[in-house]
Amino acid sequence: MEEVGTGLLDRLDAMQRVAASAPGGPLLIVAGPGTGKTRTLTHRIAYLCAELGVFPHRCLAITFTRRAAGELRERLDSLLGDVAEDITVGTFHSVGLAILKENAKAVGLGANWRIADENERAEAREQAGDDDQAYAKLLRQQDLVDLDDLISLPVALLRDDPALVEKYRRHWQWIFVDEYQDVDETQYELLRLLSPRDGNLCAIGDPDQAIYSFRGADVKYFLRFNEDFVDARLVRLTRNYRSSAPIVAAAVQAIAPTSLVNGRRLDPARLDPEAPLVGRYPAASVADEADFVVRTIDDMVGGLSHRSLDSGRVDSRSIAAGNLSFSDIAVLYRTDAQSGPIVEALARAGVPVQKRSHNRLRDRPGVQLIARELRHAGGGALATRVKQTAEALAQRFAAPTLDGEQLAPEDIWTAADLLRPLAQRIGDDLPRFLQEIATGAEVDALDPRAEAVNLLTLHAAKGLEFPVVFLVGCEDGLLPLRWPGATPEAEELAEERRLFFVGLTRAQDRLYVSHAARRFRHGSEREQSPTPFLDVIDSGLFERLGDTVPARPKDRQLRLL
Ligand code: ATP
Ligand code: MG
Repeated sequence: MEEVGTGLLDRLDAMQRVAASAPGGPLLIVAGPGTGKTRTLTHRIAYLCAELGVFPHRCLAITFTRRAAGELRERLDSLLGDVAEDITVGTFHSVGLAILKENAKAVGLGANWRIADENERAEAREQAGDDDQAYAKLLRQQDLVDLDDLISLPVALLRDDPALVEKYRRHWQWIFVDEYQDVDETQYELLRLLSPRDGNLCAIGDPDQAIYSFRGADVKYFLRFNEDFVDARLVRLTRNYRSSAPIVAAAVQAIAPTSLVNGRRLDPARLDPEAPLVGRYPAASVADEADFVVRTIDDMVGGLSHRSLDSGRVDSRSIAAGNLSFSDIAVLYRTDAQSGPIVEALARAGVPVQKRSHNRLRDRPGVQLIARELRHAGGGALATRVKQTAEALAQRFAAPTLDGEQLAPEDIWTAADLLRPLAQRIGDDLPRFLQEIATGAEVDALDPRAEAVNLLTLHAAKGLEFPVVFLVGCEDGLLPLRWPGATPEAEELAEERRLFFVGLTRAQDRLYVSHAARRFRHGSEREQSPTPFLDVIDSGLFERLGDTVPARPKDRQLRLL
């Protein structure tokens, strides 16, 4: 447990301290990437509890992903110690679920209600066609709810029951929401019901990182916070602690044309005059781009030549000697399909990779199958049962079809690997395990300790940071993404630009952008041009690689320290 008391806010800068120690009432913290949002949010909660006598059980902290909730929980534990347990930390879905559990009867659910699995949802869809009401009715007849219901049912319930609203408002008197720019209408309504207009609602986020409109998020709720909540206090955080000065400068210029923040500022706290420029590599082809990534990683990590040729694995001691480890490196791309050539090239060079796409756990091949079989297994520790079930399934489905699903035994094993760390945490509570699978927003297969290069879509990279980032496929049509011949709406284009901004701002020390002159897309090989998003960045911020750099960069300054 860290020292509390006067020292608690010492690790914050002046503006972070203003935000963390602001009095009650609505508070909006507008903060750019790398300005310490999570640090500020956790210190605010810790300060309120440790210094101002707010009871931890009166606090509700909401995030969007389970990874983010876990991170919040960990940081609160280290700041506050045991009392942090009493703080409710969860995703919108888990908060909705908690409310639903307490009021299942009131919304007409029977004693054995549960979350429908994928097959059950598909069946209800099939019988009902496009009629949402009929679909909901079918689920309800079987005492099932789907994921959207976890938020919409509590909203409907609270809307009709002012006494219940009062009960929850009395219970959670302090509400904190991270990434507020990504709330959708139902989530927003839930917040409005849980928090009075002059309530202690603290929302933090960055409108310029709003990247989820395709699934209903609307940045307008962020932008009109001070109309929705009376006498809202506004604090801005503009000091970026994450990235070198050239990276911050490039990112600020990239977002400027459609920034949603009035007077957007982002000032680098790191002012190393030796900081390398942003590397820009114009590749001839997709293969050339993948080669560039491998060559550059090879040079930076500097230990690849020591790998054992027998195993194709890299010896971790040799990596350590190179100052930089594989896990410090991320390759980011707009679409999952782009990862193929990069994974192959890295694998050929013997570089270990770990990949995360924006898939949900339950959508991974094999996960639903294991979950369904688990229901029939006997009792005992879930981790063991997952393994046993996978063994049985892998044998049964060696011939790889099931209900039209093309499942190979490897799929089953991969699914089992994904499920096990979960299962271990949960022990033997099967209903809870199945519920977590059903509600889990994202797979979190990224292990920060794994000695592997991280491969992620831009969406999945949100909120993360890496010493070295490659942003590949910076091409018109890919980032911004659009179909050939289609003209995107201004709003779509702005969102793609925000994704580009999110990508650039993941990098701490070294950022590379690359684009290929030709790429196979939509059934044919196409000529590609660099994304216009690069045009608004001052060319002086780039170091052009490729023409000037031979197969291996000679400039040892590129090496990170
Ligand atoms: P994003 O918008 O990308 O999610 P964020 O605002 O949540 O960014 P954080 O991840 O909380 O940013 O912080 C970025 C980095 O800056 C972290 O490594 C964090 O430890 C560091 N940092 C934040 N505040 C300070 C500070 N006052 N002093 C030193 N380092 C800081
Ligand atoms: Mg963050």
